[in-house]
Amino acid sequence: VLILLGPPGAGKGTQARMLEERFGLVQLSTGDLLRAAVAQGTEAGKAAKAVMEAGDLVSDQIVIDILRDRLNADDCAKGVILDGFPRTIAQAAALEEACTSDAIGLSLYFTAPEAVLTDRLLSRGRQDDTLEVITHRLSVYAKTTEPLVKHYADQGLLREINSDRAVEDIQADVLTTVSGALNQSNIA
Ligand code: ADP
Repeated sequence: VLILLGPPGAGKGTQARMLEERFGLVQLSTGDLLRAAVAQGTEAGKAAKAVMEAGDLVSDQIVIDILRDRLNADDCAKGVILDGFPRTIAQAAALEEACTSDAIGLSLYFTAPEAVLTDRLLSRGRQDDTLEVITHRLSVYAKTTEPLVKHYADQGLLREINSDRAVEDIQADVLTTVSGALNQSNIA
């Protein structure tokens, strides 16, 4: 399992799609799964809609259930890229339960200055990309998700990727880092 960690706007989705193609891994984005649930009008989607529009985190229970449905032990074994999950310590614990802990091979930590992230999100122009909501999402990230950096660093699984660069440069860095890890371990 390859975890993509980092603030909104750091380009995790772009790199996840690239890695999916290159390494034949399955990419799972909880943001995409939640947006699909909202579009389908499922119970989870109804509960998530307003929370997402406000830039808050959807409850652990909903997100963990949605991810568990998609992530079976098989996927863990074959190799999966998680984009936007875990975002809380409780979610990280649920992941460690769902997969054997040594299936979590690497966590890529994407970083960029806040002003860069804000500009990128504003130009993306999604419904939850107004300045007010973006500022809120970045503060939720700093408070709730950033502690995962230490969580994975303590396990020796963290690799930092400077995301304040052109997409191709980030991609080259990601490829080198992931290829190196694949040679050494069992992440795929
Ligand atoms: P971004 O990359 O801009 O952060 P995402 O597509 O990853 O956007 O997520 C969009 C929204 O979906 C988040 O702001 C949050 O409300 C919700 N969401 C996605 N993943 C999670 C998660 N793991 N836990 C809680 N909420 C989540």
